[in-house]
Amino acid sequence: MAKDRYWDPEIETMPRKQLQALQLERLRWQIERCYRESPFYRERFDRAGVRPSHLQTLADLRHFPLVTKEDLRREQEAYPPFGRYVIAPRETWQELHPSTGTTGRPVNTIWSKEDARVIADHTARTMWSFGTRPHDIVQNAFSYGLWVAGMAVHYACALIGCFVIPIGAGTTQRQIDYFLSPGSTVLLATPSFALHMAEALRERGISPDEIPLRIGCFGGEPGAEVPATRQRIEQGLGIDCYDYYGLGEIAPTFASECTEKDGLHWAEDHYFIEVVHPETFEPLPPGEVGILVMTHLTREATPMIRYLTNDYGKVDLEPCRCGRTHGRIVGGILGRADDMIIYRGAKFYPVQVEQVVRKMPELSDEFRIELSRDERGMDRTTIVVESAYPQDEREQQNLVERLRRALKEALQVTPEVRVVSFGTLERTVFKAKRIVDLRQQGK
Ligand SMILES: [Zn+2]
Repeated sequence: MAKDRYWDPEIETMPRKQLQALQLERLRWQIERCYRESPFYRERFDRAGVRPSHLQTLADLRHFPLVTKEDLRREQEAYPPFGRYVIAPRETWQELHPSTGTTGRPVNTIWSKEDARVIADHTARTMWSFGTRPHDIVQNAFSYGLWVAGMAVHYACALIGCFVIPIGAGTTQRQIDYFLSPGSTVLLATPSFALHMAEALRERGISPDEIPLRIGCFGGEPGAEVPATRQRIEQGLGIDCYDYYGLGEIAPTFASECTEKDGLHWAEDHYFIEVVHPETFEPLPPGEVGILVMTHLTREATPMIRYLTNDYGKVDLEPCRCGRTHGRIVGGILGRADDMIIYRGAKFYPVQVEQVVRKMPELSDEFRIELSRDERGMDRTTIVVESAYPQDEREQQNLVERLRRALKEALQVTPEVRVVSFGTLERTVFKAKRIVDLRQQGK
C-alpha cells in the first residue's frame, strides 16, 4: 500500500502541474491577506509598486520585494514585540519561537495552532521519508525549548505514533545509555553532536553493532551531506545518516533527504523556494547555485513573503527516484553567506575545510578556522586540527604537509595549519563554532 511508502501519497506524488496550480492558489491567498492585513507588507508592496493583482503566475512573485532578517529585526524594534506582520488573531496563537540570534538580536516568530499542526504534519512527512515508522523509538537530541527543531520533531513523533525519548541536547553519556536501553532506533541531533556521541561510544568500548540504532537525521548545521562526515557518522554509530534542513523564520524541519539520499525534499505545498543571484537578486533557473529565497504558502501567524536566507544552494524540480515529485535542494546547503571567508583573494566556506579534514583518518572530527593578523597586520587564516592518536614529530610534519596540499587544492589558497593533540578542541552538543575570529582582540 502506498501509505507504507509515503506519509501523504496524494500530496507527495502530485504531478508538477497540479502542484503548481495549488501553489499559485495558496500564494494568491497569502499575498492578498498580507496586503490587506499587514501594514508592514502593504508599505513594502506600495513602495515597490506592486499589488496582489499583479500576481498572475508563480513567476510574477519575482516583482515583490525581498525581506531580510534585518528588515524583520528593525520592524520588531519599531513595533515591539512582534512587528506588524503578525496576521493571525491573538486567540489562535500557540507558540513563540525566537530565532537563535547568532547574528544579532533574536527575531520573534509565532506559530498559530494551525501552523503548529502543519509543521508537525510535514515534519512527520520528512521523518517517514527517511524511514521512521510507528514501531521506532526516537531519541530526540535536538534542543527543546526555544530552538524550534526539538518541538517540531516531538509533535511529529506523536503523529506517526513513535515512542519518543525527549532527551534534548546535552548529557552525552545519557544519550549512549538510551542507545543501549531501551534501545533507540532513530536519532535526531546536530551532526557535530552525532560525531561527539560516536566518539564517546568508542571511548566506552561499545561497538555500533551492539546498539539497535539504525537511522539518524542531522540538522542545524551543514555536515550530514559532506561525504566524509556522513561516512564517519554512519560508521561511528552504525546507522544510515540523513540530512535535515530548516530555518527559524521559515520552519525548523521542512526539508530532509529521503532514502535515495539525492537532495533535500521540501514540502512544496507549504513553501515556495526561489534561488536568486547573490548580487542582482534575480531568480536563477533550477540547477544554478544562488541564495535561497523562501515564501510561506500556508503560514498563518507570521508569514514570510520572499524571505532572503543566508544560505547558498541549488534546486532540482525533477521527480526523485523515490517517486516523490516535490523539489529537492541538491548537494546540501553549500554555506551560509555570513560564514564566507575571504583570504588572500580566495573565497571559501567552512564546509570545504570540513571536506578535507574529515577525509584524513589521522585527524579527529574537530577543527577550527582561526582568523588573526600577523606581525605586519596582514590577515592570517589558520586551520587548527586534532590528531586522532599520538604521532611523532616526523609523522606530524608529514601530516601538516599533506593537509596543506589538500587544503590548497580545495580552497585555491594555502592557510596556515596547526595540529593539536586529541581532545584539545571543545566538543559541542549544539551547533559547532568553526570560525574563531581573534582579530578584534588585536591578535
Ligand atoms: Zn526522494
